[in-house]
Amino acid sequence: MEILKTPRVSLLARPQFLEPAHLPVQWKGEASDGERIAEFAGRLCYMSQHNPAGRTTAEYLRNILRQGHGSVFEHSQYVLLIEGISRSCSHELVRHRAGFGYSQLSQRYVDESHAAFVMPPAIQGDPALEAAWLAQVEAAQAAYVQAVEGLMARYAWVEDRVHRRKLAREAARSVLPNATEVKIVVSANVRAWRTMLELRLGEGAELEIRRMAVAVLRLLQSEAPALFGDFEIYRGEDGNESGRVEYHKV
Ligand SMILES: Cc1cc2nc3c(=O)[nH]c(=O)nc-3n(C[C@H](O)[C@H](O)[C@H](O)COP(=O)(O)OP(=O)(O)OC[C@H]3O[C@@H](n4cnc5c(N)ncnc54)[C@H](O)[C@@H]3O)c2cc1C
Repeated sequence: MEILKTPRVSLLARPQFLEPAHLPVQWKGEASDGERIAEFAGRLCYMSQHNPAGRTTAEYLRNILRQGHGSVFEHSQYVLLIEGISRSCSHELVRHRAGFGYSQLSQRYVDESHAAFVMPPAIQGDPALEAAWLAQVEAAQAAYVQAVEGLMARYAWVEDRVHRRKLAREAARSVLPNATEVKIVVSANVRAWRTMLELRLGEGAELEIRRMAVAVLRLLQSEAPALFGDFEIYRGEDGNESGRVEYHKV
């Protein structure tokens, strides 16, 4: 049985900026396409493509963040593959609706007999808690396998094998624990990512989604520092990584 202790976050897609030849911007400094799209959108509002203040993209976007004109951040979208998180973590994640899209592994179609399980950060490092948790998870997985077998027998009259398996798995999954690993594709625009990160990096957030948010933030900061650079990762009072933002919910 595979036990996961950290999330895995992969970038699936980043924005591509195609500058219109008839409205060129006097760019200053290096920037990613996602950052340039936001600057382009902001400058269009005032037709300031000539860059009168001579700002770099980073300076320009920081000013937008300071002023709270967050709508220009809705044009840049980043798509992530998040693995190694539990079903309870993904349940919290999908509560973020505005600007988000999700595609999550289906427990109705996918056989979970060999699923991986995510150990909660709060349990990690305590041998007694870890052993008890492992035993509980193993028992739940065995119960799932047994339930699938029983349900496959019960639905033996269903001729379509795919449908029969679905009927069995969709009922058997009820005994799987919240710790079962999910894989989920998450797409969101920068404004939406920022709002989710602000809420889930906080010390009041549940530890696993907080850990996931830290991993997401690190990836997005390396992709687009001017769009996520005002977030700071620090050690919370409980010793775990946490994060705070300079410009609140733009
Ligand atoms: C620490 C913490 C504890 C939590 N505990 C619980 C809990 O115990 N129980 C529980 O059910 N949830 C809980 N949640 C989830 C929380 O209630 C939200 O569902 C989640 O944080 C998503 O926030 P949101 O709705 O602002 O996000 P989004 O849906 O992404 O919305 C972003 C923003 O868009 C606007 N918006 C979105 N939809 C609408 C709408 N329909 N009408 C008007 N404006 C809208 C709002 O300004 C909103 O803030 C918790 C969240 C956190 C961070």
